Amino acid sequence: MRKIPIAKPLLGELEAKAAHDVILTGWVTQGPKVQEFEKDFCEYTGAKYAVAVSNCTTGLHLSLLVAGISCGDEVICPSMSYIATANCIRYTGAEPVFAEVGNDFNIDIEDVRKKITSKTKAILIVHQIGNPADIAAYQELCNAHNLKLIEDGACAIGSEYKGKKIGSHSELVCFSFHPRKVITTGDGGMITTNNKSYYTRLKHLRQHGMSINDQVRHTSKTVIIEEYLELGYNYRMTDIQAAVGIEQLKRLKDIIRERRRIAEMYNEAFKNSDSVEILDEGDKKYNYQSYSLLLTAKCPISRNGLMQELLDMGISTRRGIMTAHREKAYNAKTYSLPQSEFYSDHSILLPLYIPMDDADIASVIQSVKQFI
Ligand SMILES: *Cc1c(COP(=O)(O)O)cnc(C)c1O
Repeated sequence: MRKIPIAKPLLGELEAKAAHDVILTGWVTQGPKVQEFEKDFCEYTGAKYAVAVSNCTTGLHLSLLVAGISCGDEVICPSMSYIATANCIRYTGAEPVFAEVGNDFNIDIEDVRKKITSKTKAILIVHQIGNPADIAAYQELCNAHNLKLIEDGACAIGSEYKGKKIGSHSELVCFSFHPRKVITTGDGGMITTNNKSYYTRLKHLRQHGMSINDQVRHTSKTVIIEEYLELGYNYRMTDIQAAVGIEQLKRLKDIIRERRRIAEMYNEAFKNSDSVEILDEGDKKYNYQSYSLLLTAKCPISRNGLMQELLDMGISTRRGIMTAHREKAYNAKTYSLPQSEFYSDHSILLPLYIPMDDADIASVIQSVKQFI
């Protein structure tokens, strides 16, 4: 039986050679390649500054720290997201306050408004599975209440909002290069910012709070003794990862074009069905990090039933986006988030990867249609 996976990273000889070459230079952790990757990332996203980190979760942690979030504060975020969104808030000692999501799977601004209290310090929006949230509306809300806005753009590299790439709109945006995302460095992350003082502090924080980086010290003609300015972390990206990232970034335009082509075929196939709803990207441009279908009340098969039938046919799928508030790590508090629970429990992610040949796309479509 032919097996169709849910996802697979697009890595090849170019990435392998880039890693190989870095290893032979002898400079393997944060150094010239990280700097080059950051520069390329700024060019791609249109952001002023970029800071590479070990992954998106550590990037979010540092972003919350530079935004001034600490013990006793509240940060509003969706529960329906990967659990890292909520976890990084707790790392700072603050509490995540969960808001509902709307039918685009992004956080619902009316519910967010209701959840603002005197303890609220920031709103952490998520561009869910790469589909951009309404950044301008959140920026306005944050300005009105003197709150910080942070974007969890883990899945959103290459997606566009108001004609500009995610990463260029606000002061703190975080990306992931986990293999399940659109481009990968094994693990890895990036923070973009247009704020120079955030930029400087983020660079210190990712490297133990050190006043200068190894590259500066290494190339200096005079002796430099570094200082440790504040409590920092080891959240560095390696030069091996960055070299892979540079190659991945070169392919990104083609990757997004192909992901959108495959998603378009799915959209065409499912848009007229009463049993499922496709995700509407509206006037945004979505990178289709994942392809999600929502099963409606009219659907004759349960979500898990459909997943099992497809698995029996060799087609891997995943459940919809998880909810943090129903996990053991969070259930100390009771939340009423019926919409998030409904979307999480009734959606399914279909295979989407490159290269995915037309026969496999057709096979997924036919197999799903058989049951809905
Ligand atoms: C994947 C993901 C993360 C975590 O990214 P890592 O690079 O694995 O730390 C955070 N938030 C969202 C929404 C994600 O999808």
